[in-house]
Amino acid sequence: MGLFDKFFSLFKKKKDKEPSTDEKEKNKPEEIEEISETISKSEPEPEPEPESEPDPEPEPESEPEPEPELEPEPEPVGFFKNIYSKKKKDTLNKGLKKSNQSFFSKLNKLVIGKTKIDSDVLDNLEEVLISSDVGVNTTLKIIDKIESRVAEEKYSNLSELNILLKAEIASLLIENEEEPSNNNTFSEKPHVIMVVGVNGVGKTTTIGKLANKYKKLGLKVVIGAADTFRAAAIDQLVTWANRVDVPIIKQQMGSDPASVAFDTLNYAKTNDADLVLIDTAGRLHNKINLMNELSKIKRVMNRVIENAPHDVMLVLDGSTGQNAFIQAKEFTNTTEVSSLTITKLDGTAKGGVVIGISDEFKIPVKYIGVGEALEDLQEFNKLEFVDSFFD
Ligand code: GDP
Ligand code: GDP
Ligand code: MG
Repeated sequence: MGLFDKFFSLFKKKKDKEPSTDEKEKNKPEEIEEISETISKSEPEPEPEPESEPDPEPEPESEPEPEPELEPEPEPVGFFKNIYSKKKKDTLNKGLKKSNQSFFSKLNKLVIGKTKIDSDVLDNLEEVLISSDVGVNTTLKIIDKIESRVAEEKYSNLSELNILLKAEIASLLIENEEEPSNNNTFSEKPHVIMVVGVNGVGKTTTIGKLANKYKKLGLKVVIGAADTFRAAAIDQLVTWANRVDVPIIKQQMGSDPASVAFDTLNYAKTNDADLVLIDTAGRLHNKINLMNELSKIKRVMNRVIENAPHDVMLVLDGSTGQNAFIQAKEFTNTTEVSSLTITKLDGTAKGGVVIGISDEFKIPVKYIGVGEALEDLQEFNKLEFVDSFFD
């Protein structure tokens, strides 16, 4: 059975099982677990098992509690856990609500009076996907796939269009998968993440959220304030560091960002830190300046820790839609970006941009920002994303 068939029957089963609205919430976690389970089985390369834990990970929410809403939300306390908790799913659903509503209100208008998925419906779907910021290339791929699927009669039922969409997009994204998804572990200690991106996309906020996440997982986190361009940038990062209660290495405004990075890495090395997060400025006048500054920071880091930075994370503002695409293109052309984070998916109808970016760029989307609070950063899970988007 191919990926598509697997996803199709999975999403269909989920929909068929869909209980009345009040019961719906209760049953969700189970179904999601089931989906995630099936996916990991369908992946050619299974997640590497932790050396220390040979037994299969026990699922904390698996006991059939009578009142799930009273249960405290289990935090993923160890590494390698692939728990998509109800709370996370709710946050994701809420974050994607505008995108979801906007998509279906556009689509519903265009399929009025139809019962079958025909070429009219597909033309309209194409338009709606493009206007939902999925991107032209990805949209065309999706429409192509659906078109040939619909040629087989069994998929032409309009009431199942969203299942078809989910299954096609999920298989499109997952068959592209270059590397296994996040497992919250780093092979190098300290692991250094340099966070880059234009001004205002959410770099500093994302660093605060990441520091919080990894500190909660028990890692020793250090932050470096290498955006030295404005005093406010340093202050903002200090506020996050204090909130999360992790050390921050900084100098005064205007100092050399590479020098801050150097100090931070030295501190991390001396203090046996697990994770270093380096903030950078994004508003250099031109690409050459920005490139030079970023490569200088990298060069200097390398002198302290070989192979640092281990991850150059480009942050993109999802609410800018196609602009995020353009920024991704520009940055990946000029710097060696190794991961992407797409922020501000809450409060925007342009969430489809994540699907396009995830499809078009070889670089994995690791995190998505779904709000301004500390916990509003999620590991990007393609399947859950598609499920929430087209639900
Ligand atoms: P930077 O210039 O790239 O460091 O961006 P900042 O981290 O300073 O963020 C700019 C603004 O975006 C701030 O007001 C943040 O609160 C906001 N922001 C960042 N991430 C998110 C997100 O996921 N959702 C929402 N709604 N706002 C965000
Ligand atoms: P603005 O008028 O507030 O945008 O300030 P400018 O852009 O005129 O910045 C003045 C100088 O600072 C120029 O030489 C820029 O190259 C430099 N500059 C601008 N942005 C940054 C930045 O993000 N980091 C660093 N290190 N220098 C910057
Ligand atoms: Mg900042």
